[in-house]
Amino acid sequence: MTIPNITVGILNSHKIEFHLCGYDIDDGDYVVEYSNDAISFNGRIYKELSFQPMNKSSYFTLKDVTIGIQFHWQRQEQQTFRGKLKFITENEKLTAVNIISIEEYLKSVISSEMNSNASLEFLKSHAVISRSWAYARIYNYSHHDLYDVCADDHCQRYQGIQRIVNDNAIQAVFETTGEVLTYDGEVCDTRYSKCCGGKTELFSTCWEDEDKPYLICKDDPFCDTHDSRILSQVLNKYDMETMDFHDWEVTYSQNELSEIIENKLHKNLGLITNLIPLEAGPSGRIKYLRIEGVNGSITIGKELEIRRALSTSHLKSSAFKVEHSNDNFILRGQGWGHGVGLCQIGAAVMGEEGKSYNEILDFYYPHAKITKLY
Ligand SMILES: [Zn+2]
Ligand SMILES: [Zn+2]
Repeated sequence: MTIPNITVGILNSHKIEFHLCGYDIDDGDYVVEYSNDAISFNGRIYKELSFQPMNKSSYFTLKDVTIGIQFHWQRQEQQTFRGKLKFITENEKLTAVNIISIEEYLKSVISSEMNSNASLEFLKSHAVISRSWAYARIYNYSHHDLYDVCADDHCQRYQGIQRIVNDNAIQAVFETTGEVLTYDGEVCDTRYSKCCGGKTELFSTCWEDEDKPYLICKDDPFCDTHDSRILSQVLNKYDMETMDFHDWEVTYSQNELSEIIENKLHKNLGLITNLIPLEAGPSGRIKYLRIEGVNGSITIGKELEIRRALSTSHLKSSAFKVEHSNDNFILRGQGWGHGVGLCQIGAAVMGEEGKSYNEILDFYYPHAKITKLY
């Protein structure tokens, strides 16, 4: 097969300022604005507006791209991309969409998700799972209606070409060109998270009640590291702001917790009196949590809903135990993220220890195999 293109929704705003260099229009600064379900550009109205790159070194820059939406690292940046640029209307705003070959897309994803000074074998393992994930978004099921993926943490971080700081990411994508993980002839659901916290989790603990043979619960002896040299390879500098994630602790006063829960769930349960885990997966991640207050109670789940409800941004994971003492709730937890599939910190340590990308993938996705599609 030929190398597929992926469409990425990068930025959604009423007005978007951008710069073009090497496109089918004069180089320079431009602006598009939303106007009555259409796009206003250079005094004319368009339903859809595209700019074609004239060569391989053409690039476009978008101003004020928000990254880390709703996470603690949310911030704005200027970002530069290659490939075709298209504007569409979405949710009474404009969305800037980038259309680019999946291999080019992956170079940026690998660099955006991790520092590209991580070991080559770890980056190769990540290139294979990020490619598998992107492939499934193009051909099987997308979480977005108008494009295959978004550019933020909701899908995979894709932060343009300025993130590609050295050749390692490019080499990792190149050496695994066209390789995806498959099971029984199907491209695998290659979930991954920052740190499993010592045990990986089942698919059904976090999402639909249907487990996959290659997403299992197993002990991970690799991710319990405080080696900042390794952590800095895996985490971007804004991830490094959060160093404790294998084991963590959060303390809320009863009032604080009550306020957070009311804001997040839009329900007034009154002063919170109890948090009761009803069901948990084998890694300890809570599946359903009962929240009791003086005015009523509610049961929430699964994983992500629990993490959102109990923090002003996101709780690191749903693998926590609750201690209620005096007026305080202490949550003691493990891991960062859902813990299903590859554990990025663990995989980085495996790479440092000299394991090959096949060994890393075989450890986190047992029974799956590497298939070269093109
Ligand atoms: Zn998305
Ligand atoms: Zn782990």
